[in-house]
Amino acid sequence: MSTTKSGSVSARVVDAIRGAIGPQDGFTPLHKPTFENHEWDYVKECIDTEWVSTAGSYVEQFEEDLAEYTGAERAIVTVSGTAALHVSLRLAGITSEEEVLVPALSFVATANAVAYLGATPHFVDSEERTLGLDPEKLGAYLDDIAEVRDGTCVNTQTGRPIKALVPMHAYGHPVALDALQEVAERYHLTLVEDAAESLGSLYKGTHTGTVGRLGALSFNGNKTITTGGGGAILTNDDELADEALHLVRVAKEDHEWEYFHDQTGYNYRMPNLNAALGCAQLEQMPSFLDRKRALVERYRDAFEEVEGVTLFTERENTRSNYWLNVLLLDENVADRRDAVLAATNEADIMTRPTWQLLSSLPMYEDCPRMDLATAESLERRLINIPSTPTLVDA
Ligand SMILES: *Cc1c(COP(=O)(O)O)cnc(C)c1O
Repeated sequence: MSTTKSGSVSARVVDAIRGAIGPQDGFTPLHKPTFENHEWDYVKECIDTEWVSTAGSYVEQFEEDLAEYTGAERAIVTVSGTAALHVSLRLAGITSEEEVLVPALSFVATANAVAYLGATPHFVDSEERTLGLDPEKLGAYLDDIAEVRDGTCVNTQTGRPIKALVPMHAYGHPVALDALQEVAERYHLTLVEDAAESLGSLYKGTHTGTVGRLGALSFNGNKTITTGGGGAILTNDDELADEALHLVRVAKEDHEWEYFHDQTGYNYRMPNLNAALGCAQLEQMPSFLDRKRALVERYRDAFEEVEGVTLFTERENTRSNYWLNVLLLDENVADRRDAVLAATNEADIMTRPTWQLLSSLPMYEDCPRMDLATAESLERRLINIPSTPTLVDA
């Protein structure tokens, strides 16, 4: 059967997705939570025992489980992924009057966390190979505009120090961490990974979020596992982990009754109710990942013959969690993107474009950036399609 010659690209995409996921009742979301194990038992236990808030035992249990799952020395759970990123950047020593290199193609939290510290996001281009930061282009750019003075990278155009580099593993696909780490070392930048989308994704066998000095995970409702809302800071540095724990507990010194806070901390600690959900969800990761991989295989078959559209699949040396599946339209049909989005949503199949480049948002439009040609191209051509693990039978 040839779907390539007849019909519009939108009709071909609708047909291919339908072919891959089969008949569905009603609307198919991009990614909905899957609760099919101990979620109810653990959450009910919190309510039955009245341990619903941050002092409950699931909080530390979830941290231990996350450390074991990711291979990080320590995990500190927080109320959101954004909070985890905010505290990570603060622990990386970021202050105002400094710049932090972030991808232009990311969810807004990556830049917001920088702005919360009064610092300036500096936008970097992506590479089509990984959908994440382009190490070669970044290296060449820094050679051009930056120099290391007394062990600090300085942007010679703005005069401000550039202190950190924040790669983000887009839709679960690991970035080229080795090459980025090399750039970071050359320019004395602290590597902080935004691993919000990549729980379960590996780079050369190492879990994403554990390569940088700090890494941030998210357990928002649409992520691979959810705690309702939540996040975690990963680090292999015990001292940093203790500081993170202190900061997310409003920097309060341990004492039976005294209220002494040694700095301006944050009320960012994850409550027990959310951690209970997290423990139950994490137990299911292997099953979620297996089914998400089976779904990719179906999409791969369905899109193999579809002209003008490529399904993005994992790169060499990486293992993706396939959080959200990605279609890339060819340049010559990029102008059909909105037609594809309209046709699929009309057919009760939820699809979404990628994020608008952060460098074009009103609060960041004056921030420094390099040439963003690839990010701009991806912005015009990228479409997310339904990726919930239950689209494939257990
Ligand atoms: C989800 C996400 C975050 C954190 O989001 P929260 O909703 O605060 O948990 C951060 N960065 C990226 C790239 C994300 O996708």
